[in-house]
Amino acid sequence: MPTDERAVVEGVEVSTDHLIGGRRLGSPTRFTDVSPIDEQVIAEVGRADAATVDAAVRAAHRAAADWGRTPPKDRAAVLHRIADGVEARIDDLSVVETRDNGSLLRSHRRSVMPRVARNFRFFADKLLELDDADDMTFNGNHERVTWDPSGVTAVIGPWNAPLMLATWRIAPALAAGNAVVHKPPEWAPLTASVLGDITLEAGLPAGGYNVVQGIGEEAGAALVAHPGVTRIAFTGSVETGRLVAAAAAANLTPTSLELGGKSPFLIFADADPDAALRQAVGQFDNAGQVCLAGTRLLIESSIYDDFLERFVDATGRVVQGDPRDETTDIGPLISREHFERALVGGGPNDDLGGLYYRPTLFVNMPDGSSLLTREIFGPVLTAQPFRDEAEAIALANRTDYGLAATVYTGDEARARRVGEQLVAGTVWVNCFFVRDLDAPFGGSRNSGIGREGGRWSFDFYADVKNVVTAPSSGG
Ligand code: NAD
Repeated sequence: MPTDERAVVEGVEVSTDHLIGGRRLGSPTRFTDVSPIDEQVIAEVGRADAATVDAAVRAAHRAAADWGRTPPKDRAAVLHRIADGVEARIDDLSVVETRDNGSLLRSHRRSVMPRVARNFRFFADKLLELDDADDMTFNGNHERVTWDPSGVTAVIGPWNAPLMLATWRIAPALAAGNAVVHKPPEWAPLTASVLGDITLEAGLPAGGYNVVQGIGEEAGAALVAHPGVTRIAFTGSVETGRLVAAAAAANLTPTSLELGGKSPFLIFADADPDAALRQAVGQFDNAGQVCLAGTRLLIESSIYDDFLERFVDATGRVVQGDPRDETTDIGPLISREHFERALVGGGPNDDLGGLYYRPTLFVNMPDGSSLLTREIFGPVLTAQPFRDEAEAIALANRTDYGLAATVYTGDEARARRVGEQLVAGTVWVNCFFVRDLDAPFGGSRNSGIGREGGRWSFDFYADVKNVVTAPSSGG
């Protein structure tokens, strides 16, 4: 059903339909998009069924045939133009996403949306580096490795940073010569629509980037079960990750899963106390809705009481409020449903009401408490003391997750020893959230399957091929 329904969100016109084969298409049924800032309805969005998803995958297949044959330097040029388009619309993207998911407007403007542009630029440049493909010789034979397009990539992601996390997968998939079908999160679906406009203006062929709006259990499930999908890039919870992996198994579709975490944050007595404190309080950022957050503070016993006293004091200065205000440090939780799930004691913010949950710290939990093992995805941290390095490592590794870990220490040898023994895809020492897009990123244990970043991304999205050529004895 060709339509072009648009909502006006913070003064920005946004399509609320799907984008399939370069055209806006509606659905007879729609879902309601509510802003977490004030629980007001901001849009009625198309709700894709399996037939709509099928149309999107077919459109993507048609586009992939030509896009995959487009020379890398021309693909890279389109990706750079998409980055230009994102940069030109940073303000629009920022205000729409803040209204949609309640994250800080100032973060969207200063770091999140610039990173969206960077995702496209980085993988455009990386693609051109790959063009000097690996050449090897073996027993006099020449071996040439190439990264061939694999077809259609399905991208599904969460609401906490929907555009940034999606483009971290969309950009390398397009760079690899694939077409993309993206199912944005139903709690924050709108910036994907703006990206759709930007890709078309940038000259990405129609069908190169398709958006199917809808509910995870409907549109998402139909997409990951579609036999025409050749790669699945999923970011979300462990529970949904299991469903996605099961659906992918039926078609043997290669799947990259970036899932949840319950990361440890270790503070040794020899750490810079102010730096450790600043970073520990920073774990409340985005109201704790950060997969990588170090939500379990593990503090050496000799400084435990002092550190916590200063922590509570510093947390008292964190400003909670409307995420559009420049002075706000943390905003609301995403939805009523998530708010109820996050309610583990501690604090709804009664002054603000709505979906605002106070930064909360739990201490003295009994061993085995689910507070120490379950991802809450809200502004809720726990604190535990440890006696020595061995106990710190044992406590840190005592979950089913392995996404990230943070260590504060002034002793380099200790940093190396501890880092080697932590189970995590990324370990930060005396820093946090530092991401080189060229480095591998992903989770261990239940936090995910696979690594992306730099060449690892191409290894996943592309069909890696080795052409072995023996010297010809002919004419
Ligand atoms: P979620 O798993 O509920 O939803 C994620 C996406 O999956 C949504 O777009 C949803 O519509 C879709 N979905 C739901 N059911 C589906 C199904 N059966 N088949 C296919 N798709 C389906 O996660 P969420 O609540 O949106 O996000 C929070 C979670 O994401 C947390 O666990 C967080 O740690 C994780 N996360 C991980 C990373 C990472 O890089 N590892 C980054 C951000 C968030």
